[in-house]
Amino acid sequence: MSGELVKRTTDNREDFLVATPLEHYCNNIAPNNRAAEPIPILGNQPAGVPSPLLRAKLLKIKIIDVSRTCDKPCLEKLSSTILSSIGLWRSGCARCSSASLNLVEINNSLWLDSITHDKWSYALNNSRKYAQYDPHSVSRVNFANLGRQPVADYIRAKMSKVTNKICSRENLFTMNDFVESQLCNRNNFAKESCPSEDCFELPIYLGKENPYCELTESKIACGSPDGAIALNTDNYKFLMRSKSLKIENGTFGEGPTVLLQHTITHEVGHWFGLQHDNDDAIEAVANIMFDGYSRGREWCLTLNNLKELNEAVDKNWKDRLSSNSGLRYIK
Ligand SMILES: [Zn+2]
Repeated sequence: MSGELVKRTTDNREDFLVATPLEHYCNNIAPNNRAAEPIPILGNQPAGVPSPLLRAKLLKIKIIDVSRTCDKPCLEKLSSTILSSIGLWRSGCARCSSASLNLVEINNSLWLDSITHDKWSYALNNSRKYAQYDPHSVSRVNFANLGRQPVADYIRAKMSKVTNKICSRENLFTMNDFVESQLCNRNNFAKESCPSEDCFELPIYLGKENPYCELTESKIACGSPDGAIALNTDNYKFLMRSKSLKIENGTFGEGPTVLLQHTITHEVGHWFGLQHDNDDAIEAVANIMFDGYSRGREWCLTLNNLKELNEAVDKNWKDRLSSNSGLRYIK
């Protein structure tokens, strides 16, 4: 079965699904690879202060286009790229609960993780009182002590039949009030800003001007832990292209061309609290937290990247990133 493409969702409307790009897990940890090295994760959820990744059921992303460089079709592609990066990290978090980042909202468009979607779908179709059973085999990441865990994609919530049924109260299973209110636009929580502990905000700035981190000419982007991400569209041109995302190529910004998915995945890593990892500077493929970007160099998430992600969900972790950090351009 190793390497075989498995059905990732019960929803056939693939246009509304953003797949987590499995090719960006490094070979030694590739999901469904029986020989994959297990990722050593200690214990279950940490006793310290939980990070947003662990705590938030909803991640509210606002793209702030300071330099007015990305039009509506561009914003759609950018949103897909952001979702695919969040999917990569989130599916590598063994210490997170299945409710962590269930929902992601980007510029008012709501996305639901595919595993939760499929559990709800199964429970609806089989009149179950609990939505716990995941009906299909999925790609799995191998965590040493915590076993193999599934990889989730994101589905556009408003276009799903499951959402419609839940919002017309056809489900027998009980749901978290907050998740239901966000999914069904019920008014018991404010819409604009994050209404509760269940929600966390991530602003993404397009342009040098932003209140969180300083971008010099040699920096492609920056990210601050639990704060914000900024892309240097004044000095770099971002290419939106992906093997597994069905998006047409597009660019925004001005300057030397860099890959958006690489940049975003690196900065999301900083946002989750990861520092740079420059141990494999001579490897042909860069680990995603390497501090430099060289044109043409492939990248992937390593065993160490995911090990650190699982440490960084504890805000008291001693090696957690404490100020902002960036990605430099290597000529
Ligand atoms: Zn960096």
